[in-house]
Amino acid sequence: MAKADEFRILGRRPGNDASIRFEYKGVAFDQDCFHVVAGLNAVDTREFVEQTFKALKDAGQVCARMGAYKPRTSPYSFQGYGKQCLPYVFELAGKYGIRVISMEVTHDAHVDEIREALRQTGDATGVMLQIGTRNTQNFELLKTVGSQRDFPILLKRGFGITLHESLLAAEYVASAGNRDIVFCLRGMKTNFGDPHRNLIDFGHVPVVKRMTRMPVCIDPSHSVGTHDVAPDGLLDVFHVAAQGIISGANLVLTDIHPEPSKALVDAGQALTLEELPAFLEDCAIAREAYEKRLKVRKPA
Ligand code: PEP
Ligand code: MN
Repeated sequence: MAKADEFRILGRRPGNDASIRFEYKGVAFDQDCFHVVAGLNAVDTREFVEQTFKALKDAGQVCARMGAYKPRTSPYSFQGYGKQCLPYVFELAGKYGIRVISMEVTHDAHVDEIREALRQTGDATGVMLQIGTRNTQNFELLKTVGSQRDFPILLKRGFGITLHESLLAAEYVASAGNRDIVFCLRGMKTNFGDPHRNLIDFGHVPVVKRMTRMPVCIDPSHSVGTHDVAPDGLLDVFHVAAQGIISGANLVLTDIHPEPSKALVDAGQALTLEELPAFLEDCAIAREAYEKRLKVRKPA
């Protein structure tokens, strides 16, 4: 149980119970919003970036994910194209009306590189700084992203720490000055989740919304980690996304790729661009079901 003043800024309690709410590049984020944030796990080629943005635009989307800095388990794995890909990623995002890109940063220098590349492209788009699960307790990085106000932050829960510890990581960011934070559930690293990549923790969506005032994101791609299809014809990624959305998730971070087998990172979990419209439709169905469920609430 959280102590009363433990989540001093982000905690929900009497007198401090309004949802964190911020608008960034014309897109509103709070505990009632709903956005899908689909895109490349890792930027690979300009062509794939453009095809991905085009598919998102055709599907009416204004948010995307794009990884330029990739923290990899092996030093020999592809580490991301870093700052060299930023100018064309931002320029293409602007061309296709993408307003917010969730992009992981692993070092304070990355924030400056992103700021500079955005400036050079005439602020064609916006960036939400993503803190990955491996950096949830990189306290200096948390303070760095928390002490700037240019960009909102999407903080992932740590894969091997408690929810409580992960929420304190969010409080670190807020205590450094920036409360524009989205908290993202992405599953826990344990063999008990097999054959999924992580043990899915979307039952915590209402818990995070009750304990804190942050909008809650789910990442069904990193939770499932496969492209497996259930006998009913729906992918596991669709099923777990629906489970989080029907419980009130506000954002859905999802890997998509024009040719998943050519993806340089996490190739096994990306949806194809052809699957994107069905995924969005399924998400909308689950969201509608959540909104209907709110009507069965007993009056307070
Ligand atoms: C990602 O979203 O690209 C990522 C690396 O996720 P996680 O930090 O959850 O592993
Ligand atoms: Mn990954």
